[in-house]
Amino acid sequence: MTPSVQSDLRDRHAVVTGGGRGIGAAIAAELGRQGARLTLMGRDIETLERHAASLRSTLGCEVLTASCDVADAGQVVDAFSRARETYGDPHVLVNNAGQGEGGLFTELTREIWDRMLAVNLTGTFLCTQQVLPAMLAARAGRVVNIASTAGLKGYGRMTAYCASKHGVIGLTRALAQETAKFGVTVNTVCPGYTEDTSLVNKAVENLSGGRGVSHEEALKMITRLNPRGTLIRPEEVAGAVGWLCSAEASGVNGQAIAVSGGEI
Ligand code: NDP
Repeated sequence: MTPSVQSDLRDRHAVVTGGGRGIGAAIAAELGRQGARLTLMGRDIETLERHAASLRSTLGCEVLTASCDVADAGQVVDAFSRARETYGDPHVLVNNAGQGEGGLFTELTREIWDRMLAVNLTGTFLCTQQVLPAMLAARAGRVVNIASTAGLKGYGRMTAYCASKHGVIGLTRALAQETAKFGVTVNTVCPGYTEDTSLVNKAVENLSGGRGVSHEEALKMITRLNPRGTLIRPEEVAGAVGWLCSAEASGVNGQAIAVSGGEI
């Protein structure tokens, strides 16, 4: 494809986990628009394929889909092997795959706790380990983790999610210290509640179930957290990711950047 402007990502390989829907789908579109060859990962291959087909036809970019549970080390190794065989070593990894489950801490099950950490934090660790050696050797690369405002502050009824996202930011800050000399940046984007995502739908259910308010009132309560008075749009998150992947952002490393309309 021919991007309309000179792009640092032209023909570079970018992997987006959870790239089939929600925020990840918008990030994939942004990187595709910049000319990257894309690998989209996630568990639901049909959703991935649907988005890949749409990106191929609207942007003309090359897209591979690879099904993978980011919390499963074996599946992660297999998916990244396929990705490397197809488009070579990734220049960009966006660790976007995530789940959000809540509830009162006193009622929190070990199963939910383990899953939040396994998908949101260990998944980020496993995928990053797959790409980092080649990035360090090439002395170039971009890792962008999608945490959350829940990585920067506490939300009631979201303890496991908040712990996992604070962990992602800790991982980012520490890893950036190791990669800086090699021209590889590791940053985190922290969205506020974002529209058109199943994660927000779950948060609304969680709130309406816990407080006994209607769906509409729960959505209003979540929207009111944002001083702008609206939810964040997936494209606003994708724009920040696209910039972090550009040459202009080469001096930005180890940061946690809130895209939250002023909530943080
Ligand atoms: P969605 O639920 O819409 O999308 C989640 C994505 O992650 C899907 O593509 C899903 O694909 C993938 N995913 C989930 N679990 C796994 C897994 N175990 N292995 C591989 N892929 C997985 O949510 P969002 O788009 O909102 O979430 C994207 C990221 O943004 C998450 O990290 C989330 O925590 C973060 N975020 C979201 C906010 C919001 O308000 N929506 C606010 C702040 C942060 P599949 O089901 O096919 O596996």
